Amino acid sequence: MTLPRQRIAILGGGPGGYEAALVAAQLGADVTVVDSDGLGGACVLTDCVPSKSLIETSNAMTLLNRSDRLGIATGGLATVNAARLYERIIDLAQAQSRDIAARIAAEDIKVITAHGRIAGPGIVAAGDQEIRADAILIATGAMPRVLPGAEPDGERILNWRQLYDLTELPRDLIVVGSGVTGAEFAGAYQALGSRVTLVSSRDRVLPQEDEDAADLIEDVFRRRGMTVLGLSRARTVSRDGDTVTVTLADGRMVTGTHCLMTVGMVPRTEGCGLDTAGVKLDKHGFIEVDRVSRTSVPGVYAAGDCTGVRMLASVAAMQGRIAMWHTLGESVHPIRLGHVAATIFTDPEIATVGVSQRAVDAGEVAARTQKLPLATNPRAKMADVQDGFVKLFTSPGTGIVLGGVIVAPRASELILAVSMAVEERLTAEQLAQTFAVYPSLSGSVTEAARKLMEFTPDSP
Ligand SMILES: Cc1cc2nc3c(=O)[nH]c(=O)nc-3n(C[C@H](O)[C@H](O)[C@H](O)COP(=O)(O)OP(=O)(O)OC[C@H]3O[C@@H](n4cnc5c(N)ncnc54)[C@H](O)[C@@H]3O)c2cc1C
Repeated sequence: MTLPRQRIAILGGGPGGYEAALVAAQLGADVTVVDSDGLGGACVLTDCVPSKSLIETSNAMTLLNRSDRLGIATGGLATVNAARLYERIIDLAQAQSRDIAARIAAEDIKVITAHGRIAGPGIVAAGDQEIRADAILIATGAMPRVLPGAEPDGERILNWRQLYDLTELPRDLIVVGSGVTGAEFAGAYQALGSRVTLVSSRDRVLPQEDEDAADLIEDVFRRRGMTVLGLSRARTVSRDGDTVTVTLADGRMVTGTHCLMTVGMVPRTEGCGLDTAGVKLDKHGFIEVDRVSRTSVPGVYAAGDCTGVRMLASVAAMQGRIAMWHTLGESVHPIRLGHVAATIFTDPEIATVGVSQRAVDAGEVAARTQKLPLATNPRAKMADVQDGFVKLFTSPGTGIVLGGVIVAPRASELILAVSMAVEERLTAEQLAQTFAVYPSLSGSVTEAARKLMEFTPDSP
């Protein structure tokens, strides 16, 4: 039987959208991507790629400025050329977007640059064009949340997408919000040379993350001179000339030269025709999806940040691919959110996968835990790395690796071994018997696994 070629319309060209388009094209579908702001999406143009590029520079600064400890004599503190830094970041993001456009073009995927919306069952309107589709994927992403009374002006009160328009390094930067984005930027700007105050409404930074890791990062931040204000909810942010003032709920005021607002994201679904199409949203406006990315409307799928499911590029891409495999009749595994590896790109980085300490402490998961400080790792000593640890969780009895937390330089690379163990249900013993290079930071992963090996005593 030969079925007619399936037509796929995708709203949004970020990782949720373009990765889906590549899979659909590979499976022979006729694919159209409608994107308003540039392929790669906010991920490539304003969020993930620019922030990680900035962090690469801040990591280099950290290394340079403590090089005397490694026996290198420099002529004092290194400083940043902000104009060059931002220019590099913007160039890099645009080059990445062009690479994606070339990949998409090579697969004969049509791209329409326009704001798109669902205009009826199986119909997408994009500018003055109308696309007929057998399946529609919505991957329109999310936008920075604006706190009423703290609206960005793009010059002194900023969201993270406006940082790269600055021409100089903020001298006194106040970061409002101590979640992942706030912590990453606070750490990066401090390393680059800004004086940083981090305003956190909670009692610690990174309140959603592993408590040991969050405590370590907060301690590193403070030791490096950052002012961290815990239990301090920002009420308003105002500007007077070159000075910004953050007024806290208890009346205290914090002043600086710039304020960066990192208080979350809201879905970008307005004007997409979701209400008339009958696509169900949750109470925060995110599109409700199941584990194969189906929305409440048959033939309409959604992926990425607009669904509010873990807001990561890797998750967006996987949701998009799963949607295409599903609609085009391929075998498909529902998304396994418990297996997502994620990293917070502070210095040191925090990488996690699988079960969390919180779930273990709450008794939701039975697990044995082993935490090893990096300070005793020979490679860490050679590199003068003092802060960090490896933590593994295994299932009692079977020894199966359930998850882990790595706090280390390039933890984002080290976590792969733990991630594979979780995915493949390897045991602590199998991980322990795997060769790690000597000396290496990953030696701490195998050592932690060794300590979790379970031996049955010989019977007498
Ligand atoms: C500062 C920051 C750093 C981050 N760092 C990381 C990281 O290190 N690792 C990681 O995995 N994730 C990271 N993320 C998260 C990651 O950027 C997002 O999860 C990812 O961008 C989601 O992809 P998406 O395709 O859903 O949306 P987006 O990347 O936002 O793309 C959506 C696209 O849809 C377009 N669009 C919107 N509405 C319409 C419409 N109606 N018609 C046509 N086009 C439309 C937009 O213009 C955009 O191009 C970071 C996020 C932030 C804020």
